[in-house]
Amino acid sequence: MAVESSESADLPVFDRDVACPCCGYNLRALTTPRCPECGLTFSVAQIRSGVLRWNVPTWLDRCDPWQPHQVVLRSLWELWRGALRPGRLLRQLDLEGPLLPAVLMLVVGVGWLWVLGAALAAAAILVHTVASPAAAVRVAALVWAPRMAVVCLPPALVGVLCALLPFVLGIPLGGWRRAFRLGAYWVPAVCLWGVVPLGVGMLVVPDFALELRWAAPATVLIVAAVALLRARTKALRGWQAGLLVVVLVVMGVVMWGLGRVLPGALELPLWVHVG
Ligand SMILES: [Zn+2]
Repeated sequence: MAVESSESADLPVFDRDVACPCCGYNLRALTTPRCPECGLTFSVAQIRSGVLRWNVPTWLDRCDPWQPHQVVLRSLWELWRGALRPGRLLRQLDLEGPLLPAVLMLVVGVGWLWVLGAALAAAAILVHTVASPAAAVRVAALVWAPRMAVVCLPPALVGVLCALLPFVLGIPLGGWRRAFRLGAYWVPAVCLWGVVPLGVGMLVVPDFALELRWAAPATVLIVAAVALLRARTKALRGWQAGLLVVVLVVMGVVMWGLGRVLPGALELPLWVHVG
């Protein structure tokens, strides 16, 4: 909790460890609402709510939505950045930003996932079977990529719901707009965590999609264990940590079920030869 020494002088003092969302500096025991390391200032309202965010517009937010090449390239950049630095996304995404770039991020981001999934699946089919390149691309784009998305999307959506539980990451639930902004950037990025390892795994091991049915729930259970350990350090209440773990375990079971959507082998289906 923050304690203000004076209403007019705005001299808040954190009596607990609070990391600056911009540079990570510990703001404990400051006497002015300004980070001495990076200069980020924060309001009394932010301190009172216990949530410090640095709302930074993304590269996509700043693009001209009527320039398709900007939208396509910048959404790819945001997709990779979100996947590689999820913590940054959760701490610094501008939740009050415009809605149109968020809609574009969701639509074009899912399109990129489809392209990446299809490219990796086509490469795996070419490496492990005797299919022609045209047939491999066709099956990868029409069969593998959509099913890869079906496997990866629900866990990503559950991830957004988890992130929006106020006690998990301290992101304030300020209405559907904030939730949509976060979800639009977060869902494609989390799906990338599923699509790329799945595609690369298929390139290395032909039966990877079959193994995935066991590997995916195992991964989620490991994440649940890590979340539980983190919960101890973040002093979550028992029921909160329990709820998180239950959600993650359910997610593991769902992923095990969804894994059955994927074809079991890379061999091409009959309709390709007929068509
Ligand atoms: Zn700072």
